Amino acid sequence: MDPIPSTVKFCSACGNKVVQQVPEGDNRLRAYCHGCNTVHYSNPRVIVGCLPVYEGKVLLCRRAIEPRLGLWTLPAGYMENGETTMQGAARETWEEARARVHKQQLYRVFDLPHIDQIYMFYLCFLEDESFSPGPESQEVALFSEGDIPWDEMAFPVICDALKEYFDDRKNSNFPVRVSSAHWRKPSPIHYSAPSQVSCA
Ligand code: ZN
Repeated sequence: MDPIPSTVKFCSACGNKVVQQVPEGDNRLRAYCHGCNTVHYSNPRVIVGCLPVYEGKVLLCRRAIEPRLGLWTLPAGYMENGETTMQGAARETWEEARARVHKQQLYRVFDLPHIDQIYMFYLCFLEDESFSPGPESQEVALFSEGDIPWDEMAFPVICDALKEYFDDRKNSNFPVRVSSAHWRKPSPIHYSAPSQVSCA
């Protein structure tokens, strides 16, 4: 798939308009500023999250924000500068579910090249039964396998990760899986899943 051109319009260093061109020695279009000869690279964004478990149940958050407002998801969000993926996953879990996690192990990586994103989920355990909704969550709850609200899940990747977890649990073996997902048309900026997601 061809890379999506940069959406940068103006140079963040000098304010001049940028042009899309292939810089010398490069092999793809970049946002280039002729005012100060700066190349503005655009690279994938990393979304880090947790699959937190407590006494056999999985912690899910009901989203209080768009996209997918009102639907359930695992705690996850954009990685910040200056943190590791593991720290970012734990931070997101605190911010969205006010829950502390430990024993994190990388469990699931989804490449989403059509929207220039990478999801990285850590399997982990809650330190205790203490949790509550953060500003981006309407509700936070623990679900046993039989109670997962499959018809109200926010994103297909969440369904995939949960189903794999419950399968792997039968064998007490949790290998790291990496796969790419393509379930909708490309969008250069924002993620927005189809209006109906069926995980059944
Ligand atoms: Zn410039």
